Amino acid sequence: MAQLILNHLTKDFGAAKSFGNGRPAVADVSLALRRQAFLALLGPSGCGKTTVLRMIAGFEQPTDGSIFYGDRRLSDAERALPPEKRNMAMVFQSYALWPHMTVAENVGYPLKVRGISGVPWQKLVGEALALVKLTELAERRPSALSGGQRQRVALARCLVTQPDVVLLDEPLANLDQHLRKAMEETFRAFHERSGATMVYVTHDQAEAMALATDVAVMSEGRLLQVAPPAEIYAKPEGRVVGGLIGRGSILRLPVAENGERQLGWPVLREALGSRDAIGSAGARLADVLVRPEHVHRGTDGILMRVMACVFEGERFALDLSLGDGQRLKAFSSVALSEGALVPFVISAGWRL
Ligand code: ADP
Ligand code: MG
Repeated sequence: MAQLILNHLTKDFGAAKSFGNGRPAVADVSLALRRQAFLALLGPSGCGKTTVLRMIAGFEQPTDGSIFYGDRRLSDAERALPPEKRNMAMVFQSYALWPHMTVAENVGYPLKVRGISGVPWQKLVGEALALVKLTELAERRPSALSGGQRQRVALARCLVTQPDVVLLDEPLANLDQHLRKAMEETFRAFHERSGATMVYVTHDQAEAMALATDVAVMSEGRLLQVAPPAEIYAKPEGRVVGGLIGRGSILRLPVAENGERQLGWPVLREALGSRDAIGSAGARLADVLVRPEHVHRGTDGILMRVMACVFEGERFALDLSLGDGQRLKAFSSVALSEGALVPFVISAGWRL
Protein backbone atom coordinates (compact mmCIF):
# COMPACT_ATOMS: atom_id res chain seq x y z
CA MET A 1 0.00 0.00 0.00
CA ALA A 2 1.25 3.43 -0.85
CA GLN A 3 2.35 5.37 2.20
CA LEU A 4 3.82 8.64 1.03
CA ILE A 5 1.91 10.20 -1.84
CA LEU A 6 2.83 13.25 -3.87
CA ASN A 7 -0.14 14.43 -5.85
CA HIS A 8 0.50 16.86 -8.74
CA LEU A 9 2.99 18.64 -6.52
CA THR A 10 4.01 22.07 -7.80
CA LYS A 11 6.18 24.84 -6.39
CA ASP A 12 6.53 28.16 -8.14
CA PHE A 13 8.78 30.60 -6.30
CA GLY A 14 7.46 33.39 -8.54
CA ALA A 15 9.04 35.02 -11.58
CA ALA A 16 11.08 37.52 -9.57
CA LYS A 17 12.79 34.84 -7.51
CA SER A 18 13.29 32.03 -10.01
CA PHE A 19 16.16 33.84 -11.70
CA GLY A 20 14.12 34.60 -14.78
CA ASN A 21 13.93 31.06 -16.16
CA GLY A 22 10.16 31.37 -15.95
CA ARG A 23 9.33 27.79 -15.01
CA PRO A 24 8.21 26.49 -11.61
CA ALA A 25 10.97 24.89 -9.50
CA VAL A 26 8.77 21.78 -9.26
CA ALA A 27 5.99 21.10 -11.75
CA ASP A 28 3.21 18.53 -11.44
CA VAL A 29 5.17 15.79 -9.66
CA SER A 30 3.08 12.73 -8.78
CA LEU A 31 4.55 9.77 -6.96
CA ALA A 32 3.36 7.00 -4.63
CA LEU A 33 5.89 5.39 -2.31
CA ARG A 34 5.16 2.17 -0.47
CA ARG A 35 6.19 1.68 3.16
CA GLN A 36 9.92 1.03 3.60
CA ALA A 37 10.76 2.03 0.05
CA PHE A 38 14.16 3.60 -0.55
CA LEU A 39 13.65 6.18 -3.26
CA ALA A 40 16.58 7.90 -4.92
CA LEU A 41 15.60 11.26 -6.37
CA LEU A 42 18.07 11.81 -9.17
CA GLY A 43 18.67 14.71 -11.52
CA PRO A 44 21.03 17.52 -12.46
CA SER A 45 21.65 20.47 -10.19
CA GLY A 46 18.73 22.90 -10.14
CA CYS A 47 16.10 20.39 -11.32
CA GLY A 48 14.03 20.74 -8.13
CA LYS A 49 15.16 17.81 -5.93
CA THR A 50 15.76 19.80 -2.74
CA THR A 51 12.48 21.66 -3.21
CA VAL A 52 10.58 18.34 -3.39
CA LEU A 53 12.32 17.17 -0.23
CA ARG A 54 11.60 20.42 1.62
CA MET A 55 7.93 20.18 0.67
CA ILE A 56 7.75 16.60 2.00
CA ALA A 57 9.43 17.73 5.24
CA GLY A 58 7.09 20.71 5.55
CA PHE A 59 9.72 23.46 5.27
CA GLU A 60 8.16 24.61 2.02
CA GLN A 61 4.49 24.79 1.09
CA PRO A 62 3.37 23.71 -2.38
CA THR A 63 1.74 26.30 -4.64
CA ASP A 64 -0.37 23.50 -6.08
CA GLY A 65 -1.01 19.81 -5.46
CA SER A 66 -0.87 17.90 -2.19
CA ILE A 67 1.12 15.48 -0.04
CA PHE A 68 -0.45 12.57 1.83
CA TYR A 69 0.96 10.21 4.44
CA GLY A 70 -1.38 7.23 4.34
CA ASP A 71 -4.79 8.87 4.28
CA ARG A 72 -3.58 11.90 6.22
CA ARG A 73 -3.17 15.09 4.21
CA LEU A 74 0.11 16.78 5.18
CA SER A 75 0.23 19.71 2.76
CA ASP A 76 -1.61 21.49 0.05
CA ALA A 77 -1.74 25.06 -1.21
CA GLU A 78 -4.07 26.12 1.65
CA ARG A 79 -2.75 24.24 4.69
CA ALA A 80 0.46 22.57 5.81
CA LEU A 81 1.19 20.49 8.89
CA PRO A 82 4.31 21.93 10.58
CA PRO A 83 7.53 19.88 10.18
CA GLU A 84 7.67 18.79 13.84
CA LYS A 85 4.25 17.13 13.55
CA ARG A 86 5.18 14.91 10.59
CA ASN A 87 7.38 12.28 12.27
CA MET A 88 9.96 12.75 9.56
CA ALA A 89 13.65 13.49 9.85
CA MET A 90 15.84 15.31 7.37
CA VAL A 91 19.62 14.91 7.07
CA PHE A 92 21.32 17.88 5.47
CA GLN A 93 24.44 17.96 3.34
CA SER A 94 26.17 20.09 5.98
CA TYR A 95 25.36 17.64 8.86
CA ALA A 96 24.47 20.62 11.13
CA LEU A 97 25.95 19.19 14.34
CA TRP A 98 26.28 21.22 17.55
CA PRO A 99 30.03 21.82 18.06
CA HIS A 100 29.78 22.24 21.86
CA MET A 101 27.97 18.92 22.42
CA THR A 102 29.44 15.42 22.47
CA VAL A 103 28.43 12.83 19.89
CA ALA A 104 25.95 11.29 22.34
CA GLU A 105 24.48 14.69 23.23
CA ASN A 106 24.09 15.56 19.56
CA VAL A 107 22.36 12.26 18.85
CA GLY A 108 20.14 12.61 21.92
CA TYR A 109 19.19 16.23 21.33
CA PRO A 110 15.89 15.52 19.50
CA LEU A 111 14.86 13.30 22.45
CA LYS A 112 15.62 16.04 24.95
CA VAL A 113 13.45 18.44 22.95
CA ARG A 114 10.64 15.90 23.29
CA GLY A 115 11.11 15.67 27.06
CA ILE A 116 12.83 12.26 27.13
CA SER A 117 15.71 11.94 29.62
CA GLY A 118 17.44 9.54 32.03
CA VAL A 119 17.47 5.80 31.33
CA PRO A 120 15.12 5.89 28.30
CA TRP A 121 17.34 8.63 26.80
CA GLN A 122 20.48 6.54 27.33
CA LYS A 123 18.88 3.42 25.88
CA LEU A 124 17.65 5.11 22.69
CA VAL A 125 20.92 7.02 22.15
CA GLY A 126 22.91 3.81 22.74
CA GLU A 127 20.85 1.94 20.14
CA ALA A 128 21.17 4.70 17.57
CA LEU A 129 24.94 4.93 18.07
CA ALA A 130 25.32 1.15 17.79
CA LEU A 131 23.42 1.15 14.52
CA VAL A 132 25.91 3.52 12.88
CA LYS A 133 28.88 1.93 14.70
CA LEU A 134 29.77 4.98 16.77
CA THR A 135 29.46 3.55 20.30
CA GLU A 136 33.18 4.04 20.99
CA LEU A 137 33.10 7.70 19.99
CA ALA A 138 30.09 8.70 22.11
CA GLU A 139 32.03 11.19 24.28
CA ARG A 140 33.95 12.91 21.45
CA ARG A 141 33.10 16.32 20.07
CA PRO A 142 32.28 16.71 16.35
CA SER A 143 35.54 18.62 15.74
CA ALA A 144 37.45 15.44 16.63
CA LEU A 145 35.64 13.34 14.01
CA SER A 146 36.26 12.60 10.35
CA GLY A 147 33.74 13.62 7.68
CA GLY A 148 32.32 10.11 7.48
CA GLN A 149 31.94 9.89 11.25
CA ARG A 150 30.14 13.24 11.37
CA GLN A 151 27.78 12.00 8.70
CA ARG A 152 27.06 8.94 10.83
CA VAL A 153 26.33 11.15 13.84
CA ALA A 154 23.82 13.08 11.73
CA LEU A 155 22.24 9.77 10.67
CA ALA A 156 22.04 8.50 14.25
CA ARG A 157 20.46 11.77 15.36
CA CYS A 158 17.78 11.44 12.72
CA LEU A 159 17.18 7.80 13.58
CA VAL A 160 16.86 8.29 17.33
CA THR A 161 13.28 9.54 17.14
CA GLN A 162 12.32 6.53 15.00
CA PRO A 163 10.83 8.57 12.17
CA ASP A 164 8.48 7.05 9.61
CA VAL A 165 10.20 8.89 6.79
CA VAL A 166 13.87 9.86 6.50
CA LEU A 167 14.79 12.56 4.01
CA LEU A 168 18.41 12.84 2.92
CA ASP A 169 19.69 15.70 0.78
CA GLU A 170 22.92 14.69 -1.01
CA PRO A 171 24.31 13.28 2.25
CA LEU A 172 27.56 12.08 0.68
CA ALA A 173 28.33 15.17 -1.39
CA ASN A 174 31.02 16.40 1.00
CA LEU A 175 32.88 13.10 1.27
CA ASP A 176 35.68 11.75 -0.89
CA GLN A 177 35.10 8.88 -3.32
CA HIS A 178 36.55 6.19 -1.07
CA LEU A 179 34.42 7.18 1.90
CA ARG A 180 31.30 7.47 -0.22
CA LYS A 181 31.54 3.77 -1.08
CA ALA A 182 31.88 2.84 2.60
CA MET A 183 28.97 5.11 3.56
CA GLU A 184 26.71 3.53 0.93
CA GLU A 185 26.99 0.35 2.98
CA THR A 186 26.00 2.26 6.13
CA PHE A 187 22.93 3.67 4.37
CA ARG A 188 21.81 0.25 3.17
CA ALA A 189 22.14 -1.21 6.68
CA PHE A 190 20.45 1.86 8.13
CA HIS A 191 17.51 1.41 5.79
CA GLU A 192 17.15 -2.31 6.50
CA ARG A 193 17.30 -2.01 10.27
CA SER A 194 15.35 1.21 10.77
CA GLY A 195 12.42 0.12 8.60
CA ALA A 196 11.96 3.76 7.62
CA THR A 197 10.77 4.94 4.24
CA MET A 198 13.65 6.88 2.74
CA VAL A 199 13.90 9.58 0.12
CA TYR A 200 17.49 10.13 -0.89
CA VAL A 201 18.44 13.04 -3.11
CA THR A 202 21.52 12.72 -5.26
CA HIS A 203 22.91 13.84 -8.60
CA ASP A 204 25.12 10.73 -8.75
CA GLN A 205 23.40 8.03 -10.77
CA ALA A 206 25.79 5.27 -9.68
CA GLU A 207 24.98 6.06 -6.04
CA ALA A 208 21.25 6.06 -6.79
CA MET A 209 21.44 2.71 -8.57
CA ALA A 210 23.53 1.10 -5.83
CA LEU A 211 21.32 2.17 -2.92
CA ALA A 212 17.72 2.56 -3.90
CA THR A 213 14.77 0.23 -4.34
CA ASP A 214 13.30 2.83 -6.72
CA VAL A 215 14.90 5.57 -8.78
CA ALA A 216 13.01 8.75 -9.74
CA VAL A 217 14.57 10.92 -12.42
CA MET A 218 13.81 14.63 -12.47
CA SER A 219 14.67 17.25 -15.05
CA GLU A 220 13.67 20.93 -15.08
CA GLY A 221 11.14 20.52 -12.29
CA ARG A 222 9.41 17.52 -13.84
CA LEU A 223 9.42 13.87 -12.93
CA LEU A 224 10.39 11.86 -16.01
CA GLN A 225 10.36 8.27 -14.78
CA VAL A 226 10.15 6.19 -11.59
CA ALA A 227 11.25 2.55 -11.65
CA PRO A 228 13.47 0.04 -9.84
CA PRO A 229 17.19 0.44 -10.74
CA ALA A 230 17.41 -2.57 -13.08
CA GLU A 231 14.29 -1.48 -14.96
CA ILE A 232 15.30 2.14 -15.39
CA TYR A 233 18.70 0.92 -16.63
CA ALA A 234 17.22 -1.49 -19.18
CA LYS A 235 14.17 0.54 -20.20
CA PRO A 236 14.77 4.27 -19.79
CA GLU A 237 12.04 6.57 -21.08
CA GLY A 238 13.39 9.15 -23.48
CA ARG A 239 16.74 10.78 -24.21
CA VAL A 240 17.17 12.57 -20.86
CA VAL A 241 16.75 9.46 -18.71
CA GLY A 242 18.68 7.34 -21.23
CA GLY A 243 21.56 9.80 -21.13
CA LEU A 244 21.55 10.17 -17.36
CA ILE A 245 21.41 6.53 -16.23
CA GLY A 246 24.41 4.26 -16.77
CA ARG A 247 26.93 4.37 -19.57
CA GLY A 248 25.84 4.13 -23.14
CA SER A 249 25.56 5.77 -26.54
CA ILE A 250 22.44 7.15 -28.17
CA LEU A 251 22.50 6.39 -31.91
CA ARG A 252 20.21 7.89 -34.54
CA LEU A 253 19.22 4.96 -36.71
CA PRO A 254 16.56 4.28 -39.37
CA VAL A 255 14.40 1.71 -37.58
CA ALA A 256 10.90 0.87 -38.77
CA GLU A 257 8.18 1.88 -36.27
CA ASN A 258 6.48 -1.37 -35.26
CA GLY A 259 6.03 -0.86 -31.52
CA GLU A 260 9.09 -2.99 -30.73
CA ARG A 261 11.50 -1.19 -28.40
CA GLN A 262 13.91 -3.99 -27.57
CA LEU A 263 16.02 -4.33 -30.71
CA GLY A 264 18.22 -7.30 -31.59
CA TRP A 265 21.21 -7.64 -33.91
CA PRO A 266 19.24 -8.48 -37.12
CA VAL A 267 17.24 -5.24 -36.84
CA LEU A 268 20.25 -3.21 -35.77
CA ARG A 269 22.46 -4.62 -38.56
CA GLU A 270 19.87 -3.70 -41.14
CA ALA A 271 19.49 -0.22 -39.64
CA LEU A 272 23.25 0.32 -39.59
CA GLY A 273 23.53 -0.95 -43.18
CA SER A 274 20.75 1.24 -44.53
CA ARG A 275 21.88 4.52 -42.99
CA ASP A 276 22.81 5.93 -46.43
CA ALA A 277 19.40 5.10 -47.85
CA ILE A 278 17.40 7.10 -45.31
CA GLY A 279 14.41 8.72 -46.91
CA SER A 280 14.26 6.32 -49.84
CA ALA A 281 13.54 3.42 -47.49
CA GLY A 282 10.86 5.44 -45.74
CA ALA A 283 12.10 4.48 -42.26
CA ARG A 284 12.26 7.36 -39.79
CA LEU A 285 15.27 7.98 -37.59
CA ALA A 286 14.89 6.70 -34.05
CA ASP A 287 17.00 7.29 -30.91
CA VAL A 288 18.48 3.95 -29.94
CA LEU A 289 20.35 3.51 -26.66
CA VAL A 290 23.21 1.02 -26.84
CA ARG A 291 24.97 -0.09 -23.65
CA PRO A 292 28.72 -0.80 -23.96
CA GLU A 293 28.27 -4.33 -22.60
CA HIS A 294 26.09 -5.12 -25.63
CA VAL A 295 28.82 -4.30 -28.15
CA HIS A 296 31.09 -7.23 -29.01
CA ARG A 297 33.66 -8.06 -31.63
CA GLY A 298 32.25 -10.54 -34.15
CA THR A 299 33.13 -11.68 -37.66
CA ASP A 300 29.59 -11.02 -38.92
CA GLY A 301 29.69 -7.52 -37.45
CA ILE A 302 29.81 -4.06 -38.99
CA LEU A 303 33.21 -2.46 -39.46
CA MET A 304 33.89 0.32 -36.97
CA ARG A 305 37.03 2.36 -36.42
CA VAL A 306 38.71 2.30 -33.01
CA MET A 307 39.15 5.97 -32.11
CA ALA A 308 40.38 5.38 -28.56
CA CYS A 309 41.20 2.42 -26.34
CA VAL A 310 41.64 3.35 -22.68
CA PHE A 311 42.85 0.96 -19.98
CA GLU A 312 40.42 0.94 -17.02
CA GLY A 313 42.00 -1.81 -14.92
CA GLU A 314 39.60 -4.70 -15.34
CA ARG A 315 39.05 -3.94 -19.04
CA PHE A 316 39.54 -1.45 -21.85
CA ALA A 317 37.00 1.23 -22.73
CA LEU A 318 36.61 1.74 -26.47
CA ASP A 319 35.40 4.75 -28.40
CA LEU A 320 34.24 3.50 -31.82
CA SER A 321 33.37 5.51 -34.91
CA LEU A 322 30.50 4.43 -37.16
CA GLY A 323 31.89 6.52 -40.01
CA ASP A 324 28.96 8.94 -40.25
CA GLY A 325 30.00 11.07 -37.29
CA GLN A 326 28.28 8.82 -34.75
CA ARG A 327 30.25 7.28 -31.88
CA LEU A 328 29.72 4.14 -29.87
CA LYS A 329 31.11 3.15 -26.46
CA ALA A 330 32.21 -0.45 -25.94
CA PHE A 331 34.36 -2.59 -23.66
CA SER A 332 37.12 -4.99 -24.58
CA SER A 333 39.13 -7.50 -22.57
CA VAL A 334 42.15 -6.94 -24.83
CA ALA A 335 43.81 -3.80 -26.13
CA LEU A 336 42.90 -2.77 -29.69
CA SER A 337 45.04 -0.52 -31.89
CA GLU A 338 43.74 2.98 -32.29
CA GLY A 339 42.84 3.60 -35.92
CA ALA A 340 42.09 -0.08 -36.67
CA LEU A 341 38.89 -1.10 -38.49
CA VAL A 342 37.27 -3.91 -36.51
CA PRO A 343 33.91 -5.70 -37.01
CA PHE A 344 31.50 -5.24 -34.09
CA VAL A 345 28.08 -6.72 -33.33
CA ILE A 346 25.48 -4.85 -31.26
CA SER A 347 23.55 -7.61 -29.48
CA ALA A 348 20.86 -5.32 -28.01
CA GLY A 349 19.54 -1.80 -28.32
CA TRP A 350 16.67 0.06 -26.68
CA ARG A 351 14.51 2.49 -28.64
CA LEU A 352 14.11 5.55 -26.46
P1 ADP B 1 18.21 20.87 -6.84
O1 ADP B 1 18.13 20.48 -5.41
O2 ADP B 1 17.77 19.81 -7.79
O3 ADP B 1 19.59 21.35 -7.21
P2 ADP B 1 16.46 23.04 -6.07
O4 ADP B 1 15.22 22.39 -5.61
O5 ADP B 1 17.40 23.52 -5.03
O6 ADP B 1 17.21 22.09 -7.10
O7 ADP B 1 16.09 24.28 -6.98
C1 ADP B 1 15.19 24.20 -8.08
C2 ADP B 1 14.97 25.57 -8.64
O8 ADP B 1 14.27 26.39 -7.71
C3 ADP B 1 16.25 26.33 -8.97
O9 ADP B 1 16.04 27.08 -10.13
C4 ADP B 1 16.43 27.22 -7.76
O10 ADP B 1 17.15 28.36 -8.10
C5 ADP B 1 15.00 27.55 -7.38
N1 ADP B 1 14.85 27.80 -5.94
C6 ADP B 1 15.07 26.91 -4.96
N2 ADP B 1 14.80 27.43 -3.75
C7 ADP B 1 14.38 28.72 -3.98
C8 ADP B 1 13.93 29.79 -3.15
N3 ADP B 1 13.86 29.67 -1.81
N4 ADP B 1 13.57 30.95 -3.76
C9 ADP B 1 13.64 31.07 -5.09
N5 ADP B 1 14.03 30.11 -5.93
C10 ADP B 1 14.41 28.94 -5.40
MG1 MG C 1 19.65 20.42 -3.97
